[in-house]
Amino acid sequence: MRRDIDGFTEETFDVCVVGGGITGAGVALDAARRGLRVALIERGDFGSGTSTASSKLIHGGLRYLEQGQFGLVAEALHERALLLRHARHLVQPLPFVVPFYDDQRVAPWQWRLGLTVYDILAGRDNIARSRPLSTRQVDAATGPMRSGLRGGVLYYDAWMDDARLCLAVVRTGVQYGAVAASYVEATGFENAGGTISSVYAVDRLTDRRFVIRARVVVNAAGAGADAVRVLAGEPSEPLLNPTKGVHLIAPDQGHRAASLLLHPGDGRVFFVIPWFGKTLIGTTDSFPDAGPNALRVAASEVTYLLDGYNHYFDRPLQTEQIIGTFAGLRPLLRFRPGEPSSVSREFRLHVGPTGMITALGGKYTTFRQMAETITDQVTSYVGKSRRCRTASLPLIGSPATPWPEFLQAKSAQIVARHPIAIDSVMHLVQRYGTEVDKVLERISRAPRGFDRLHAEEPDLVGEQAWQRDEEMAIFPDDFLLRRTRIGMWRPGLRCASATTQSRSA
Ligand SMILES: Cc1cc2nc3c(=O)[nH]c(=O)nc-3n(C[C@H](O)[C@H](O)[C@H](O)COP(=O)(O)OP(=O)(O)OC[C@H]3O[C@@H](n4cnc5c(N)ncnc54)[C@H](O)[C@@H]3O)c2cc1C
Repeated sequence: MRRDIDGFTEETFDVCVVGGGITGAGVALDAARRGLRVALIERGDFGSGTSTASSKLIHGGLRYLEQGQFGLVAEALHERALLLRHARHLVQPLPFVVPFYDDQRVAPWQWRLGLTVYDILAGRDNIARSRPLSTRQVDAATGPMRSGLRGGVLYYDAWMDDARLCLAVVRTGVQYGAVAASYVEATGFENAGGTISSVYAVDRLTDRRFVIRARVVVNAAGAGADAVRVLAGEPSEPLLNPTKGVHLIAPDQGHRAASLLLHPGDGRVFFVIPWFGKTLIGTTDSFPDAGPNALRVAASEVTYLLDGYNHYFDRPLQTEQIIGTFAGLRPLLRFRPGEPSSVSREFRLHVGPTGMITALGGKYTTFRQMAETITDQVTSYVGKSRRCRTASLPLIGSPATPWPEFLQAKSAQIVARHPIAIDSVMHLVQRYGTEVDKVLERISRAPRGFDRLHAEEPDLVGEQAWQRDEEMAIFPDDFLLRRTRIGMWRPGLRCASATTQSRSA
């Protein structure tokens, strides 16, 4: 995937998408797959906004059952099934345990009922039916829990690599003809007869300013969508009410399943998630005191999450054991003022007076379906009625065979041909899926390509050559936080490939 800035100025696009998080990436892919001419610009790295700060779950959203939003849950469960099929290397089933205690605001019978409904709503798309667990089985899945445990229940959702899933969507869109670039920012819009006809853009790597002509603009700027609306001359009254969510990263605490827990302080749901050999704990939910570029994790947020964790697990975690944190903004609709957790997660389209289509709200899991709705609107504007074709479209790297078979066969093949330790082999297959052979070929040509980036991590130095050439990684954070995830828990690591750019844009 090449960064071709001239490509933005050589034609009039059907649609220019502003924002390369999962929403914008999804629209770019859907529109390109329908045969539209698509430009996609992202002011930072792809996915560098909220789309890499998620809880890494592809889920139906059990909590919405409490609010009676069955349609929303059924839709998300269907999208979960599509992602498990079409992004096999990046989205995989994950067991979840809900432990039962007497002092909780949700009674065991309510959990059992809710999960039965969850199973029914998933229908043929279900991963596996939920089932009751004895106290011993809960402990075996999560590690020893505090006394008073009354058993629990097991159900399934999925985990994902959010940054690479976003990237896979961008790259698949580019395969279908989209012109996409990171570090290109929309700075303004030109109106012709009251309708936006062009996007003023700046290449943040060179400061070159240029104009992208487009019939329709989609504002997919996430929590920054209101700011982009203001750039387009729309009223400054905000449509979003973003809330901030924080996660902690701890070394592996031995959890074989994720845990869905109710915080002892306020009764909110939070998760403990095994993820790439680490344990994630999150999330908080509060109104932010800064914009997307200045999010900080407060000591009180670390304490809140550790209090939650230590309330449940016998092996307590201390602040000093936390090896990383991350924070993101939920682009929630300004809908119901009051408690952050009651703000609606629903998705809405807003069409402004200049014809710009703004995506509001939503969640990662349902990005394809949101993109379908947005692109339907785009096609009706540009007068090209073409139906959505992403529901049956595998993303780049996703194997046609079921994941366990692919992983086993491909790993055996690599072990036979390359001098690589088994943990690195598994990691390469997981990260690159069907592209792994091409990646290995690139690694073998890179200086010290088969060396590890860090002695205790499976990532290889030569991967960075592939990430630079094929995945548009430019700055150290692009390589270390999003193409790989190693920088999330090893912040001091240096990046071999980002030598051409020394600062973070
Ligand atoms: C803590 C947390 C946990 C979550 N967990 C989950 C989960 O487990 N599962 C799930 O399904 N959902 C989850 N979500 C929700 C999900 O992550 C978000 O809904 C989704 O990532 C939003 O994607 P987006 O593309 O709309 O926004 P973003 O990812 O923020 O993308 C918007 C992009 O627009 C760019 N941009 C802004 N202005 C401009 C401009 N002028 N020019 C060019 N580009 C611009 C930004 O740089 C940004 O990259 C979670 C959210 C949070 C905050």
